[in-house]
Amino acid sequence: MKKIQMVDLVSQLEKIKPSIDKVINEVLSTAQFINGPEVKAFQSELQEYLGVKHVIPCANGTDALQIALMSLGLKPGDEVITPSFTYIATTEVIALLGLKPVFVEVDRDTFCIDPEGIKNAITDKTKAIVPVHLYGQACNMNEIMSIAKENNLFVVEDNAQAIGSEYKMSSGETVKTGTIGDIGCTSFFPSKNLGCFGDGGAICTNNDELAGKIRMIANHGQSKRYHHDMVGCNSRLDNLQAGILRIKLRELDSYLNKRREAASYYDEAFASIPEIKVPYRSDQSRHVFHQYTLTLEGIDRDALHQFLAEKDIPSMIYYPIPAHRQKMFASFGAEKSDLPVTDWLTERVISLPMHTELEEEQLNHITTSVLEFVKKN
Ligand SMILES: *Cc1c(COP(=O)(O)O)cnc(C)c1O
Repeated sequence: MKKIQMVDLVSQLEKIKPSIDKVINEVLSTAQFINGPEVKAFQSELQEYLGVKHVIPCANGTDALQIALMSLGLKPGDEVITPSFTYIATTEVIALLGLKPVFVEVDRDTFCIDPEGIKNAITDKTKAIVPVHLYGQACNMNEIMSIAKENNLFVVEDNAQAIGSEYKMSSGETVKTGTIGDIGCTSFFPSKNLGCFGDGGAICTNNDELAGKIRMIANHGQSKRYHHDMVGCNSRLDNLQAGILRIKLRELDSYLNKRREAASYYDEAFASIPEIKVPYRSDQSRHVFHQYTLTLEGIDRDALHQFLAEKDIPSMIYYPIPAHRQKMFASFGAEKSDLPVTDWLTERVISLPMHTELEEEQLNHITTSVLEFVKKN
């Protein structure tokens, strides 16, 4: 049996190697490394895939979030509502910009931000909500958009883990996550569902005015060459990464199906085990399984992690410390946030290997080992 990995990028690459080699050689032969034709082509192909008016590529997912928030014209001290149960980048950029992160609870079943928590956290200073489609599960966007509309708030979706996920709006229309709020942000970090071979990210929006501002901010606040109208930054996707992403974008739907197949295998194996809760499947959206994350009740999570490691099966805790308990946010008094569900989940979640190249033999070894541990304990 092939060694089991959390993410197997080597085997995935083998299948598309000839086209990857070709595009790398083409880019090298033109020496157009920045703002080349691959970037422009990728931008319009991603617009079409997502069904969104504007895609602005940038250097990574964290920059995407930062630039998105910079474009909203917020003032220091303005409050931004976000979950604590997420990757640190989501919350870090809020503080970096002098804004105040306000941490709210997530839903126990979906791991996504709880709309009730948002409602309770709104004050006169609240200006934006940053929902995170965690592990590839879409947030309750119908509810979030209606709260935002009622309270005149911006919505910036952190779509870094959910690119390609579909969501059914209350209008009946099905759209892609990341295109529902005012702005959507994504990451092309290698292990993401659409990953490049280095760092990359993108911002998308249907709003022409925001798109113009975002483009300027990502390029030193420049409106015309050497005319800088506002403070911006330098955040670009390079031509090589864009060429690689164009090839992988064509495979994305098949990659997502492979993830769903692995998830179904896991679901079935654990279906009759009351101590193991498998990821929630919603009628409203299609999960894209960036992670396959179990919630354990009455099983020692850390002992399972250790047991699997001894059998050469990797597993991960995403994330071992929620944002409100990070020292980074101590000056905001964040540790006083009352987030019992977040703390409860933090002690009980475990993510199993999830990628496009999982073979039945590997899945069988993983599920049999988990079940063996459950029986023994
Ligand atoms: C990966 C990730 C980011 C940041 O993306 P980078 O490209 O690593 O900067 C932001 N938010 C979430 C939820 C992520 O998973």
